Amino acid sequence: MTIMDMQDSSLLEQQIKELIIPAGKVANVQLGNSLEHALLVLTRSGYSAVPVLDLHDRIHGLISTNMIFNSMLGLQGLEYEKLDGRKVEDIMYEKVPRMKENDSFQRALELSINNPFLCIENEEGVFVGILTRRSILALVYRHFRNV
Ligand code: AMP
Repeated sequence: MTIMDMQDSSLLEQQIKELIIPAGKVANVQLGNSLEHALLVLTRSGYSAVPVLDLHDRIHGLISTNMIFNSMLGLQGLEYEKLDGRKVEDIMYEKVPRMKENDSFQRALELSINNPFLCIENEEGVFVGILTRRSILALVYRHFRNV
């Protein structure tokens, strides 16, 4: 194994814990929330997608501005009335990428190729925070700058 290989494997074996944005700082919506409320949360937070949680802080999916606008599309363009009576669970994306706090950095790096953020849950399945592609890239950058 070369020094370069050893340094690369030390990167891939990094703990992800210190990169997590804690749940308390993550904008989110809850099951049962209206699509109008979700649109408000997304607009106010400035994020294009946020996690959907239940009352016990379990992850059920994610919802984005794009999904909500798509659900408003009608013959007349965007039809605001289409939001009436609809809930986040009606349109959320359920196959949200999930990881455990103790999963490897390698898995985070791989999942971040196709996902701007990953949801992290503890052993009991409770949401503990997110890992963003930004923080993963920043760590990779710092690693190679120091090599
Ligand atoms: P960033 O890499 O910081 O641009 O974040 C990528 C994506 O992660 C954003 O578009 C949001 O969907 C999500 N995200 C990042 N930080 C937060 C946060 N504090 N609350 C909710 N979602 C977030």
